[in-house]
Amino acid sequence: MSNSLKVMDDNPWYHKGLRFKCTGCGKCCGGSPGAVWLSKQDVERISKYLHLSENEFLEKYTHRIDGRLSLKEKENYDCILLVDNQCSIYSIKPRQCTTYPFWNHILASKENWEEAKNFCEGINEEAPLISFEEIQKNL
Ligand code: SF4
Repeated sequence: MSNSLKVMDDNPWYHKGLRFKCTGCGKCCGGSPGAVWLSKQDVERISKYLHLSENEFLEKYTHRIDGRLSLKEKENYDCILLVDNQCSIYSIKPRQCTTYPFWNHILASKENWEEAKNFCEGINEEAPLISFEEIQKNL
């Protein structure tokens, strides 16, 4: 069974929910090459928040990877919008960022989820329980 099918299962391994609360540590926002894909709605929202026209925002903060629009990275691979290890647009961050760590490949197995603890301190036993229904909305 493929990963995506496992996640779409009505009774996946995380059906009782998962514990997570973002601490804002910023570790998921850099450190290794990646992409933050942007939707049209993300572009509209972020441009407005930064008081830039959409063209100005696109020019300054984005580039295309294989034809898809992504936020740029700094030389050290941190997100261009990460400032002092904090997301500078936290309250209106892109959908991809708001749904982390509830991503298909992380939820594909308990092992992947456990591994994600190594770089996301928000995944821990003290964190609030996020219900299965809430998790599914992020997929
Ligand atoms: S690594 Fe986890 S806790 Fe840290 S900012 Fe990212 S989601 Fe939040």
